[in-house]
Amino acid sequence: MYNITLIPGDGIGPEVVSAAKKIVEATGLNVNWDIVNAGADVYKKTGVLVPDEVYESIEKNKIALKGPITTPIGSGFRSINVMLRKKYNLFSNIRPVKTIPGTDSPFKNIDLIIFRENTEGLYSGIEKKHSENVAEATKIVTSAASLNIINEAFAYARKNNKKKVTVVHKANIMKLTDGLFLDCAREVSKNYPEILLDEVIVDNMCMQLVMNPSQFEVIVTTNLYGDILSDLCAGLVGGLGLVPGANIGENMAIFEAVHGSAPDIAGKNVANPTAIILSAAMMLNYLGEKEKSNLIIDAVIEVIGEGKFLTKDLGGIAHTADITNAIIGKIQTLKNL
Ligand code: ATP
Repeated sequence: MYNITLIPGDGIGPEVVSAAKKIVEATGLNVNWDIVNAGADVYKKTGVLVPDEVYESIEKNKIALKGPITTPIGSGFRSINVMLRKKYNLFSNIRPVKTIPGTDSPFKNIDLIIFRENTEGLYSGIEKKHSENVAEATKIVTSAASLNIINEAFAYARKNNKKKVTVVHKANIMKLTDGLFLDCAREVSKNYPEILLDEVIVDNMCMQLVMNPSQFEVIVTTNLYGDILSDLCAGLVGGLGLVPGANIGENMAIFEAVHGSAPDIAGKNVANPTAIILSAAMMLNYLGEKEKSNLIIDAVIEVIGEGKFLTKDLGGIAHTADITNAIIGKIQTLKNL
């Protein structure tokens, strides 16, 4: 029996998280869901953005599946997502981006994975207003955090027989901060002589990604570039509705989709639940439930490939509930094979 914290979140969060919960249950995994919530909706009702029970649950279970959380703009609070990653030192933000056959994308063979530093960089939250017209943000780069994420990227590359790790930086301009990140990548790469270290400046990386994305296998980068490149890569494979993610630290992990709360489509039963469902599959893999994880991935690929239950973002008319039920049906079929 697994105890897993489940955070529905804001906007489309409750719809897609509930879909992912049903899918995990359909695999037969024995789960005790500890359902707690945080974010803008909770704040409206209680005046508290993150109730204590959310921290208590995450700290007890050490594993969570989380919907997108909105931090009310102008509320004076920093992003809850960023805060959780920092508080629990979830230093690896891992985002696999893969072509799913049947989606409408000009690129057919994308299979890359982004390792984004998750605790510092320009997301350190150190900003100052010097005067009405002058503001400053501080970018922090430490070798400890940089080595953590770069080691993860190389270890993944070795384990999965990848030939190349691309480090994305802007060390030509930010010589000290990005320079340190790049030095760390060069240092780590010495322990992996069989893997090529590919050094690409972030602006060139954007162009390379939109011209020839299948040349990339493993990408490792700092916090802000990783955030931007993730959305760019999501666009290459059919949109934000498809890309899952994991925030992993020493002995704790929070799984969540790359997308935000999508308020424009919230409550309409039209959101694509695939990204959070694939995040749940990553979670099962992390738990060592590889077979059940693969069952979810295979079912998603088959349902999208058949093209009968595609949500609006994928060019279809299916509702969130339709694609969810189709994936559950497919899981049952695959289980009985
Ligand atoms: P945040 O700042 O919280 O990361 P954002 O402003 O970048 O969020 P999202 O909430 O991720 O934006 O939404 C961006 C666009 O992608 C919106 O038009 C939204 O409707 C669409 N979108 C995001 N997630 C999904 C999904 N799961 N299914 C369908 N469309 C989605």
